[in-house]
Amino acid sequence: MKAIRVHAYGDPEVMRLEDVPEPEPGPGEVLVRVYAVGVNPVETYIRAGIYPQGPALPYTPGTDAAGVVAAVGAGVKAVAPGDRVYTSYTLSGAYAEMTLCLESQVHPLPPQVSFAQGAGVNVPYAAAYRALLQRARAVPGEVVLVHGASGGVGVAATQLGRAAGLIVIGTAGTAEGKRLAAEQGAHHVLDHYAPDHLQQVMELTENRGVDVILEMLANVNLGRDLEVLASHGRVVVIGSRGTVTVDPRLTIIHEANILGMYIWGATDEETMSLHAALGAGLANGTLRPVVGRELPLAEAARAHHEIMETKAFGKIVLIP
Ligand code: NAP
Repeated sequence: MKAIRVHAYGDPEVMRLEDVPEPEPGPGEVLVRVYAVGVNPVETYIRAGIYPQGPALPYTPGTDAAGVVAAVGAGVKAVAPGDRVYTSYTLSGAYAEMTLCLESQVHPLPPQVSFAQGAGVNVPYAAAYRALLQRARAVPGEVVLVHGASGGVGVAATQLGRAAGLIVIGTAGTAEGKRLAAEQGAHHVLDHYAPDHLQQVMELTENRGVDVILEMLANVNLGRDLEVLASHGRVVVIGSRGTVTVDPRLTIIHEANILGMYIWGATDEETMSLHAALGAGLANGTLRPVVGRELPLAEAARAHHEIMETKAFGKIVLIP
């Protein structure tokens, strides 16, 4: 089968399409024929060698695929050959024609959700769900600022926030991204490059501030986020690409909480619960992953350039 292989950490071009042996499922394992692969920013950090827990070389990148179960190992009960599934992590890497998973890493993909959409479920929706509901513990009626609503996690957070009965303020950096955030259910949409956008947040909330901020770029925004938090507000740091200056006094007055979020930090119970919730949302149509761009698997390097260098619009997906 064909798979993307990385033999040395480095630029996107270290990813090459190669022939590798097709994996065989052992006991408790599932082999998935991949029809679409989700590309996430974290895969660029791992490939560049700047991620703390990089895999041993050589490796096949990726955790998020959607496809059809091709074969199952002994003892597998949850799925059978022919089932449509999305993956949450894999044993052999998702950027490939086939991927080997543990039984717990495959989840049903409802018939109305395309494979390309299915590839956009795991990391973005798990991150959004964990940030909003497991870390911030948002409750209906609260106001959430999705600071970066045009990308994979932001679209997921906007849909989840809307479904959970929150007032959603989303931000984006382009007219296209703003339109996308509005279409996904944001009640108000702002431009995060407008210098007064946080002032607009205060105006929208009649100077009360927001209860929850889901922060995609904390190194740029965290300091000022604290200025627009309501009393007992929570900022969840989802993404950050550098350092930032924060005035800790701002946390005192409002008893504010700054929370980290790491999807790999979820317990097994939290992960199971989260995928049960995502499965229900996919099945009832509340959750609808948005595919912005599809590229052939062989163009994985281009996908890594684009996810870091161009403005976001939903998910970038690779097609084997
Ligand atoms: P993505 O699809 O590339 O989207 C990036 C988002 O950040 C876009 O909405 C982009 O908006 C927005 N953005 C750019 N400049 C911004 C600014 N100044 N203020 C606020 N937002 C800004 O990436 P993603 O998959 O959504 O992931 C977002 C971040 O979360 C990444 O850093 C990723 O590594 C991280 N993440 C962390 C975890 C975890 O476990 N902690 C899990 C998943 C993702 P425009 O392009 O419209 O400007």
